[in-house]
Amino acid sequence: SRQFTRPLNDLANQFNAVLSALAGAERVFAVIDEEPETDQAGASAVKQIDGNVAFQNVCFSYGATETLKNVSFTAKAGETIAFVGPTGAGKTTILNLLLGFYPVNEGAIFIDGNNLAHLKKDDVRSQMGVVLQDPFLFQGTIRENIRYGRLEASDQEVEEAAKLANAHGFISHLPNGYETMLFQDGSGISQGQKQLLSIARALLANPSILILDEATSSIDTVTEMKIQEALKRLMHGRTSFVIAHRLNTIEAADQILVLQGGQVTEAGSHHELMATKGFYYEMQQTKQMDAIL
Ligand code: ADP
Repeated sequence: SRQFTRPLNDLANQFNAVLSALAGAERVFAVIDEEPETDQAGASAVKQIDGNVAFQNVCFSYGATETLKNVSFTAKAGETIAFVGPTGAGKTTILNLLLGFYPVNEGAIFIDGNNLAHLKKDDVRSQMGVVLQDPFLFQGTIRENIRYGRLEASDQEVEEAAKLANAHGFISHLPNGYETMLFQDGSGISQGQKQLLSIARALLANPSILILDEATSSIDTVTEMKIQEALKRLMHGRTSFVIAHRLNTIEAADQILVLQGGQVTEAGSHHELMATKGFYYEMQQTKQMDAIL
């Protein structure tokens, strides 16, 4: 089961582009009241992000034990990067660092060539969209829940986003359509439909960088196909970082980064990694890792 640190959870409540929070407290990592990271003195404002991202020899630890060791990779704008590897390998931690929740201990993270540590965090985060497994919905109408992606969006823009997200169909079949009230737990609509709403929200937010935690729970085939198609549209033209569980997603990624014990042990395309016959190949053979379904 996935675990997310509270910062990623907080972000979901704080930023427009951010979509989702965790329902079950048992799934939230016990971070004890971390101070939120503040901007460095003289941090630079960021207007537009293209989405080039680089980790350069990043080392990080939450406490005494080293969680990430010399992690390096480069993502060009628009690429999809899939992270795979056992639970506890450090996939979520990489994404928390990218979101600027913790300072790195060594090395650096670059966004369009600028050191993330020197940039205004809110500016950067406003261009990052996060779609988690259990989409965060609040008490309000479906329209309000989608509009949360960009508060100034018109009704028409909300509906266009819903169409692109393959959500318009089920919404228009509800007796109250876009005015249907949702409750905080999202009861009344299915898990898959919640995901379609969170994708609509992300499309509306139009971020340059996407962070996705792919669902592990099984969803009916038809909805699943709608989700996959909507995600493809969402990811198109954006730099996407995916904690990937589905073989399709992994195979389609521009780069797969295999994490083991806080280190990138293999990197490359599906075909390259299969040819290497290393850990990734083993995972594919045994299908025992939770990373591959
Ligand atoms: P993954 O996403 O690959 O399952 P994580 O990045 O969640 O891995 O965790 C990597 C390691 O860091 C694990 O050993 C985990 O126990 C530890 N860890 C994750 N979050 C925290 C935290 N907030 N405080 C302390 N340790 C953490």
